[in-house]
Amino acid sequence: MPPFDVAVVGAGPGGSATAAFLAERGFSVALLDRACFPRDKPCAEYVSPEARRILDGLLPDGALAAADPAELKGMRIVSADGTSFEGRFLGSHPYRGYATHGIALRRSELDTALVEAATRRGAQLMERASVGRIDEPRGGVRALGVRQGRERRSVSARLIVGADGLHSQVAKQLGLARRGSVSRVALVTHAVGVRDMRPIGEMHVCDAGYVGLAPVGHGLTNVSVVVDTSRVTIGGAPVNWFQEMLARFPEVWRRLELATYVTPLRGAGPFARRTTRATAERVALVGDAADFCDPFTGEGIFSALSGAELLGEHVSSLIETDQLAQQDLRSYDRVRRRTFRGKWWVERIISWVVGRPAVLDHVARRLRAKPHLADLLVGVTGDFVPAGKILRPAYARQLVW
Ligand SMILES: Cc1cc2nc3c(=O)[nH]c(=O)nc-3n(C[C@H](O)[C@H](O)[C@H](O)COP(=O)(O)OP(=O)(O)OC[C@H]3O[C@@H](n4cnc5c(N)ncnc54)[C@H](O)[C@@H]3O)c2cc1C
Repeated sequence: MPPFDVAVVGAGPGGSATAAFLAERGFSVALLDRACFPRDKPCAEYVSPEARRILDGLLPDGALAAADPAELKGMRIVSADGTSFEGRFLGSHPYRGYATHGIALRRSELDTALVEAATRRGAQLMERASVGRIDEPRGGVRALGVRQGRERRSVSARLIVGADGLHSQVAKQLGLARRGSVSRVALVTHAVGVRDMRPIGEMHVCDAGYVGLAPVGHGLTNVSVVVDTSRVTIGGAPVNWFQEMLARFPEVWRRLELATYVTPLRGAGPFARRTTRATAERVALVGDAADFCDPFTGEGIFSALSGAELLGEHVSSLIETDQLAQQDLRSYDRVRRRTFRGKWWVERIISWVVGRPAVLDHVARRLRAKPHLADLLVGVTGDFVPAGKILRPAYARQLVW
C-alpha cells in the first residue's frame, strides 16, 4: 500500500472531521478505527449550539434532522443541597449562537454520519483496524502497525493524526500524555419512561460525583453517572455501583423509579490524564487525545470538531510543503493554546467547583437568584459566549457576594 498524505487514528468526531477537512483539500487520507460503525460511545450525547455550525458544514442537508435529535434549550444544574438553577441558550444577554438551542442524539448516529462525511470526501476508511506500534519517521513517512482481525499490516503516511480519544495510544507512545490529578470514571446507559423530562440537559451533583440526564430523541433519556474515585471506593459489578450512585440523588431516584434501561451500561475513564503538547515529528493530536475535558460541561464534541477545523486549516500548507518536523508543527500547539486557553480555564474552574459541593451549593444559590449570570455561564459552555465574559473579577464577585 503506497503511503498516504495523512493517516488519522480514530474515527470519533475529532478524527472523522479532520479526515473530512483534509480529504476535501485534496490530500490522500486513511481513517482507521478499531471499531466498526455504527458503534456506541459512552457520552452524555449533548451537542452545543455552536458545534452545530461545524456539523451543518460537514453533513448533508437534513442528515441531522433525520436522526431526530432532541432539542435542548439550556442546562439545569442541581447542587448537593437540592438548589437548582437554569441557564438558557437564548439568554438575557446580547450573544446569539449559530443555533438557538443545543441538540442531543445517540453517538452511534452522530459518529456514523461523520464517518460518512469523511468517506464521501474521499477518505479511505479502515474499520476493525487497531493501531499498535508507531514507528520512528523514516524516508519522509511514519509507519503504523495495524491489526485487522487476524491480519497484521503496516499503514504509512507523511502525517499521523492521533484522534484516538482519552487513552490515546498515539499520545502515549510519543510521550505526550501524563497522569492528571482528578480521577473520575463514568457509566452511561439509556432509559425509557424517565419522569418529568424537559427539553433541557440536567446535571445533578453530590459529594461523590454527578449524574447527567438528557433526552436524546426517540423517547430515550441518556443517564450518565460520573464518580469521583478519590472520594468514593467503587468495586464489584458496575450495575451495583451505578444503582448505589443513583440512590444518592433523591430527585433522580424518584424520576427513574418507573424507568426501563434499554441499552447496556458502558464505562469510560479514568479521566486522569493531561497532555503536555499536541505535536511530535510528523504527528499531531486532536480531540480528547489532545486534551480531555471533564464531561460536566459537555464540550468534548465541540472541542473535537473545532480542533479538527483548526488542524485542517493549519496543517494543509505544511503538508503541501512537507514541513512536518516537530519545530514546524509547534505553531499548531501555539494556535491551539490561543484558541482554547479561555475555555480550558473555565473547564478547570468548573471541575474544581463541582468537586467541592459546599462551594457549588453557594454558587448555585447565587446563580438561581441572578439568572442573567446563569445564562452567560451556559452561553460559554454552549461555545458562543466568549470565555472572557465570565473570567472577570466582576463576574466572580457576583457569585461570591
Ligand atoms: C461520561 C461522558 C460524558 C460525556 N458527555 C459529553 C457531552 O454530553 N457532550 C460532549 O460534547 N462531550 C461529552 N463527552 C466528551 C466526548 O465524549 C468526547 O470529548 C468526544 O467523544 C471526543 O471525540 P474524539 O473524536 O476526540 O474521541 P472519541 O470519540 O473517543 O473517538 C476515538 C476513536 O478512536 C478509536 N480508537 C481508540 N484507540 C484506537 C486504536 N489504538 N486504534 C484504532 N482506533 C482507536 C475509538 O474506537 C474511537 O472510535 C463525554 C465524555 C464522557 C466520558
